[in-house]
Amino acid sequence: MDERTVACEDLYKGVKFDVRYDYLCIAGGMKSNTFNTPKVAELEGVVVFFLKHLYHARQIRNRIVECFERASNYTIPVVQRDRLLSFIVVGGGPTSCEFMSELHDFVTKDVVKWYPELAPHIKLTLVEAGPGILGSFDKALSEYYLEKLREMDIDVKLSTAVSAIEERYVDGEQITVAKFGDGTEQNFGVMVWSAGLSPVNFLEKSNLAMERGRVAVDNYLRVPNSKGRVFALGDCATTSESLPPTATVAEQSALYLADCFNNYHSKFDVLDKKNDNKDVPLPGDVTPYLMPWNALSFLNKLFCDSSPEFQYKNRGSMASMGFGGGVTDLKKSDLPGLKSTMSGQASYLVWSSTYLTKQLSLQNMILIPMYWFKALIFGRDISRF
Ligand SMILES: Cc1cc2nc3c(=O)[nH]c(=O)nc-3n(C[C@H](O)[C@H](O)[C@H](O)COP(=O)(O)OP(=O)(O)OC[C@H]3O[C@@H](n4cnc5c(N)ncnc54)[C@H](O)[C@@H]3O)c2cc1C
Repeated sequence: MDERTVACEDLYKGVKFDVRYDYLCIAGGMKSNTFNTPKVAELEGVVVFFLKHLYHARQIRNRIVECFERASNYTIPVVQRDRLLSFIVVGGGPTSCEFMSELHDFVTKDVVKWYPELAPHIKLTLVEAGPGILGSFDKALSEYYLEKLREMDIDVKLSTAVSAIEERYVDGEQITVAKFGDGTEQNFGVMVWSAGLSPVNFLEKSNLAMERGRVAVDNYLRVPNSKGRVFALGDCATTSESLPPTATVAEQSALYLADCFNNYHSKFDVLDKKNDNKDVPLPGDVTPYLMPWNALSFLNKLFCDSSPEFQYKNRGSMASMGFGGGVTDLKKSDLPGLKSTMSGQASYLVWSSTYLTKQLSLQNMILIPMYWFKALIFGRDISRF
């Protein structure tokens, strides 16, 4: 990224080439953090799965179904059967909790229709290093979610870290074992690792100033000492406010930068050689994006003060809990109205309607409820693909 060029590589052809830039926006996201836990990286894609990209979701699904297929073989030793039917989710954040409740519904409502004899042997475990789950949510909501997970017969281990994974042989059977910080162990067939984030490789190797694994930017999302030509946003970047790595932060920072470019930076002639060593002038006032939907954007001006700096507006937090459940925390929200919390069906209604209306295409807005309806009536599809 020196001399205003970015070094690129075509991953399909292996061809390397440079791209010159006038402005550079870095939005490389983050990758899953293994915290150097022994064997996690080595067994990733085999028995340990990250939950970041679409292909991870496919891998997890295929592995779960494979575990049931193998466990249903009547010649399988008990130790191997129980290992294959033990599913561990590592991390107690919203992604892990949502995944665990979906996994619970998938294995207990859909998969067991085909393997009813295996139902008593399924074990679901969620492991969280901190003292509670959903740490960023209102305490009452975190406790509610925890209680519901335990009611679902999910073994939630708090203040427990996975310290290592081991492969060993028991009665001639190869098994994978999770070792916990408290000295206990558990065999497993699938471990979903959603325990934290670390910088993507090209940023880790770059000479950009980092703060807790994220590119440090100023309140205009500019990378320091870049003459206002390099910006970083989304998960990979952090301002002094240290915003969470969520889609709402990424979306709002992208909209802020788009406004800066359209209304202010576009007036600065970056192609003029005389401007090469000049700093790009700071932007003028930009209205923050408080409202989650474009149709309501006229309200942004009404409820927010404009400023040249990026202003993040909290729209609340939500975590779904399978079909018909979840928690919504609007206590710290900047949205006008009740600073309240919701749980159960009311929260599910808010969650599902919010995500539906946030779809980018009309096609998805129509298709997704149809998929939900199909899953509700006929159960989820358990074929491997
Ligand atoms: C399972 C899951 C559920 C989530 N649910 C929610 C939710 O309900 N609400 C919410 O607000 N947030 C949620 N998030 C977080 C949200 O997805 C992220 O905050 C958001 O996607 C960040 O956007 P981004 O553009 O910064 O990064 P990303 O969406 O991660 O995009 C970064 C892109 O950069 C690409 N990239 C990386 N390195 C390079 C390179 N060297 N060259 C070229 N390209 C590169 C990556 O492949 C990726 O496509 C969830 C995240 C996960 C994993």
